[in-house]
Amino acid sequence: MRFDTFAMVDWSGGNDTGPRPRKDAIWICLASASGVETPLYFRNRDLAERWIADLIAEELEAGRRLCIGFDFPFAYPKGFAQALTGSADPFAVWDWLEDRISDSPRANTRFDVAGEINRALGGGRGPFWANGLRNRDIDGLPRTKHGYANPFPDRRAAEARATGTFTCWQMAGAGAVGGQVMTGLPVLTRLRRRFADALAVWPFEPLTRPVAVMEIWPSLLSDVLAEETASAEAAGQAPIRDALQVQIVAAALAGLGAKDLARIADLDAPEEGWILGLGHETALAAAARKVLEVRTPALPRPPRLTNDCFALPPGVDWTPVDMALARLRSGLHAVTGTEDMPVTHALGRVLAAPAVAGRSHPPAANSAVDGYGFAGGANAGGQVLELLPGRSAAGQPYAGRVGRGQALRILTGAQIPEGVDTVVLEEDVALSAGHVAFNGPLKRGANTRKAGEDVAEGHVALGPGRVLAPQDLALLAAVGIGRVTVRRRLRVGVLSTGDELAEPGEEIGADRIHDANRPMLLGLVDRFGHVPVDLGRVRDDRAALAACLADAVKGKRVDAILTSGGASAGEEDHVSALLSAEGAIETWRIAMKPGRPLALGLWRGVPVFGLPGNPVAAFTCALIFARPALSLLAGAGWVEPQGFDVPAAFEKRKKPGRREYLRARIRDGRAEPFASEGSGRVSGLSWAEGFVELPDREAHVRPGDPVRFLPFGSFGP
Ligand code: AMP
Ligand code: MG
Repeated sequence: MRFDTFAMVDWSGGNDTGPRPRKDAIWICLASASGVETPLYFRNRDLAERWIADLIAEELEAGRRLCIGFDFPFAYPKGFAQALTGSADPFAVWDWLEDRISDSPRANTRFDVAGEINRALGGGRGPFWANGLRNRDIDGLPRTKHGYANPFPDRRAAEARATGTFTCWQMAGAGAVGGQVMTGLPVLTRLRRRFADALAVWPFEPLTRPVAVMEIWPSLLSDVLAEETASAEAAGQAPIRDALQVQIVAAALAGLGAKDLARIADLDAPEEGWILGLGHETALAAAARKVLEVRTPALPRPPRLTNDCFALPPGVDWTPVDMALARLRSGLHAVTGTEDMPVTHALGRVLAAPAVAGRSHPPAANSAVDGYGFAGGANAGGQVLELLPGRSAAGQPYAGRVGRGQALRILTGAQIPEGVDTVVLEEDVALSAGHVAFNGPLKRGANTRKAGEDVAEGHVALGPGRVLAPQDLALLAAVGIGRVTVRRRLRVGVLSTGDELAEPGEEIGADRIHDANRPMLLGLVDRFGHVPVDLGRVRDDRAALAACLADAVKGKRVDAILTSGGASAGEEDHVSALLSAEGAIETWRIAMKPGRPLALGLWRGVPVFGLPGNPVAAFTCALIFARPALSLLAGAGWVEPQGFDVPAAFEKRKKPGRREYLRARIRDGRAEPFASEGSGRVSGLSWAEGFVELPDREAHVRPGDPVRFLPFGSFGP
């Protein structure tokens, strides 16, 4: 029973837990033969459900086999299914619950449903108990065990055997799993429906399909948890228990090997389900330890993006530019892995780890000029020193010692010989019969460079995220670094959409236009320092677009995608329609001109930036939004264009409520805008050399007033 990927889920029946990772929330950890990943935090079930669905789609697409574990019971004790649904089939209970439970990040109906079942099956006294709602009584759901009566067994066979488990009848209180089952089973039902042919649920179905869903219970590995917690604490970390737990289970299953996993999973399918690994704790723990032991990669694989990375705060209609930028900045992170390479090949690459100086620069004190070296500086007045034979040149140090009253010929970059601490410029001396004469004063240390005065050995010469410029290669080489760890280059696909589009140069009628955006966006991606991947052009057809995107993400051909056209909410706007059908889109209406609609979403975990079709708007949005976002994805951090204020050569009034980017250039020290503001004029982009950025608020610019100019060059690497 071989799986390529393991995803272990710590479920939660509670409400949204907010943006900051915390305990008692949903945590998911991925593992594979190559090791365990960093656990991911999900603030609510909706996000987790969508992420899991994306993961399944992604793994199927890539032809990988996936095992997903959830830490709640997949079935209730014997007799319950029959009584509730008229069938002993556990999936009948799943469907029943999916039908009844309504769930959202802020509220769900689990207590009401428990009360409803109690009224129908147990005279309002059981099987469920404990109402977690402080200010609302639920008819039929006892608050405490007082008066409680359960017509069904209290525990499943698995729970009777596993010490420390909670019963699924308890709906609230510390450690209760009742709410997790009620909110979890509907999610599993939907996944089962969506991936019907590809997914099997253990132990109810044979595991012949590529995706297996299994019940886990992390406490089976409590010894390993204690060890891992202790060692994390010893290292000064405060691990979140839930995160560590799923990591340990993921490690255990990934470490088991196909044969052992098959042995552990081999059992008759009981109506009540079972906990995977129960009775095999020793084997599980050994497998977990084996994988966790080697879990010391210097650089963890970057975590995947979560589906809410583009979510805007609710209630925002027109999103201000700064809010949109802040959202991108907080929602995205580096997605590229790392590789090692010689410094000489690393121009333009993003440092992934600090570059630590292997030696000081300069490694030894040396001379800053051509001249004569001696000791101790000189007082005012004429000085005469005895000139020693020989010299110190760069790469050819002087072996002897220079005594008091003596001087030695020394060249730029040459190591300062023993006995010397000061150098007098050769232009300032007179030479005669074995002597050097010059006029003081001269400070001790003049014209010399101290060892390590530039960079000291062991210091960080350049930090992670640095995009290596030519001068950085000089610095790295100077401090003795020959190889660097850099990010793999970000591959950015570019796709145009529209029935009207044709290739540049193609002969077409007046009803069609040539695809102007694709060459432009491919060029921008290249200028931004990423690898442009031409994804071609698709018609306004949802199936064609879906096929093109699927092909692009297959085998990780691209890490991000820029599309143009079809981004608003119109009938031909397939980019937004398709992404929203996939459940991961945000259409941002940005309060800016030009631009406006920007569709942002994840396609199988790959971020898609749906830029407007209009070339001027596409160009502007690519520079303002896509560039910093791609920089983050590439590991180079957030970047902002460097603008400066110049006097305006024009007059203009603008209304409040949106930011404006005028195509502009500087002539005679003043910013001139392009004659027409119409965003249909592509020629204006070529005419311009930058943007004039007018603020969101109302403005009246008069000639001579300072305006902000952002040169196009400041958007390049
Ligand atoms: P859309 O957002 O698809 O409604 O497109 C808005 C406008 O941009 C329309 O006039 C399109 O014809 C035009 N457009 C869309 N894509 C391109 C492209 N790749 N090159 C040039 N113009 C385009
Ligand atoms: Mg279109």
